[in-house]
Amino acid sequence: MSKILYVVVPCYNEEEVLELTTQKLTEKLTKMIDDKIIDEESKIMYVNDGSKDKTWEMITKYNKENEFVTGVCLSRNRGHQNALLAGLMTAKEHADIVISMDADLQDDIDAMDRFIEEYDKGCDIVYGVRSSREKDTFFKKNTALAFYKMMNMLGAEVVYNHADYRLMSKRALNELENYKEVNLFLRGIIPLIGFKTSKVEYVRAERAAGESKYPLKKMINFALEGILSFSVKPIRIITSTGFGISALSFIYLIYVIISHIIAQNAQPGWTTIIALICLFGGFQILCIGIIGEYIGKIYNETKQRPRFIIDKVLLKENENEKANNSVL
Ligand code: UDP
Ligand code: MG
Repeated sequence: MSKILYVVVPCYNEEEVLELTTQKLTEKLTKMIDDKIIDEESKIMYVNDGSKDKTWEMITKYNKENEFVTGVCLSRNRGHQNALLAGLMTAKEHADIVISMDADLQDDIDAMDRFIEEYDKGCDIVYGVRSSREKDTFFKKNTALAFYKMMNMLGAEVVYNHADYRLMSKRALNELENYKEVNLFLRGIIPLIGFKTSKVEYVRAERAAGESKYPLKKMINFALEGILSFSVKPIRIITSTGFGISALSFIYLIYVIISHIIAQNAQPGWTTIIALICLFGGFQILCIGIIGEYIGKIYNETKQRPRFIIDKVLLKENENEKANNSVL
């Protein structure tokens, strides 16, 4: 059975790499169509995430020249996860299966064949998993490992060494649409969908051109998003710690009173008191901060603002330049 594949690629300031990516993906899709693995209606769908460079101009140009290229233009920069979701939700209207990947060719394009083999075996979601992190810096390797370990410890089910290179069937995407959260962390949400899943290993290359669009600050935000959106355990840890400290303090207080009555020796102990006040003061501020983070999330969720706004969609099916303002 022939199936239509859409490859969704979020792009933020990717003018340096887009030409090469388009060339590689075009070759790959052509080959897969020739091999009758996918339908000839299969496409590449670039999502322009409010780029400030020529990314959208290039996508528009490729759309005219290259039969495979389609594009979605967001009204402004919304971040990788939202851009990806915008692409997935647009692509699922036209495709049977969607593969998401980064624009920088770090994800091995040739793994797509294996993704589709798994789909043919009945999987609705196939995760691309890095076989090694040799190419990563020492810092990135270890922070990533710590992040996965912490996420799993906190009870969120994230697939180890999986970024956003994955295949999803139309059915899985329709289910994904029902997850309405604004604090989007797709790697945590997608395992919640269920269905039959599988993993495909691939070697992650270095960025083909341009610089990473994920500086440390964005990475920290992303990790926090993951932890806070998927686990209330930090709050529970705070509650139990608070309870433990109160109990110990109470016992200590009784001890002090009794020793005072029995021994009649009141110690000045000023330094200890100040040290303890500072310690607990800091601890309390930290706890309030963590609770505040959750309240902030609730605040964002209750506003129910759209996660992305699509400015333009460039398709092929004779309805090109269909400018719409669909809001999701
Ligand atoms: N990206 C995006 N919006 C952003 C930041 C990044 O759409 O605000 C895209 C970017 O164009 C790329 C993907 O997300 O296709 C992953 O970014 P990058 O390769 O820079 O991250 P890294 O691989 O360094 O973690
Ligand atoms: Mg990258």
